[in-house]
Formats: sequence, structure tokens, C-alpha cells
Amino acid sequence: MPHLCIKATNTGDGVFALSDIPQGTVVRVMSGERMTGEDIEAAIDRGEVCADDPFQIDEELFIKLDRIPYLFNHSCDPNTGVRDVNQLVALRDIAHGEELTYDYSTTVCTHSVWRMACLCGSPHCRHVIQNARSIPQQQRARYRALRVIPAFIERELIRRTRRGANAS
Ligand SMILES: [Zn+2]
Repeated sequence: MPHLCIKATNTGDGVFALSDIPQGTVVRVMSGERMTGEDIEAAIDRGEVCADDPFQIDEELFIKLDRIPYLFNHSCDPNTGVRDVNQLVALRDIAHGEELTYDYSTTVCTHSVWRMACLCGSPHCRHVIQNARSIPQQQRARYRALRVIPAFIERELIRRTRRGANAS
């Protein structure tokens, strides 16, 4: 895995590349303690985990991220994405010194009401980061082609689409 470093950004610390990283490289495994939805809720109630933080990997399964995986910032035009449960892969060639980002919405289940303001500065910025349904169709198709929409999110999106079609 490539060497990374932590640096301050205008939205707190972020993770940066310490070398050029070719497209397709696994830049980090999003490691940490696996917890059920119930465990996470209890940890949030006890004040041990912030409601914004758990990284979702299945309908009722989360990772309480280790420090470095936790520090990756969101971008609406990210240069990495989550593949095969918890591998962060480069979506394009990344230059030494660039900040590494992923689209948080790709890991937020479609019934979540979670919201966070976005200051990513991309021309395609959505301004508010929300669940996976908020990803524009064209971008969703791009992520799908790059295999960076987690399987549980894909299942939910398909279910939602079907339900929508049945309702109309
Ligand atoms: Zn943004």
C-alpha cells in the first residue's frame, strides 16, 4: 500500500499521498472494530462514538474506524472509492501531494437521515452530503462502472427503484 501522510485541511485533518498512486491501487484498508447496528447505537448513547462516524459495510454492520481510515475526507468528486467491503481504491491516477478523498454517500444506507454540510469545493459539489440516494444518476453510473458502490447499497438502491416503479 502507498505511503500516506496526515495534514491539516480547511475541514480538519486529511490524508495525503506521499507518492504518485496509479489508478486501481488499494490506498488503504478501512480497518477498525466491526460492530452491529445495535452496538453502534449503544456506543453513540454512551458518548463513545459520534453519530457521524461509523463506516457502514452492510445493512446492520459497521466499522468503528481506526485513526487513519477515519481521517479521509469526503469529496463530491473523489479520487478514491470503497470496493470489496472496505478497501479504498484509487479511481484515477493520483499525484504525490494530493489529498485522498471518497464519497461518503456511497456508504450511507438509503433510509439514513444523516446529513453533513460539504465544503469540498468541487464544481459538482452537492453542498449537503446525504445518503446514497442523493448521488446523481450519472455519478452513480460512473461509480457502478468503477465498482465502488458497496453491495448492500446497490441492493437498497435497486429495491427503492422497484418500489418506486410499483408505486407509480
Ligand atoms: Zn462537495
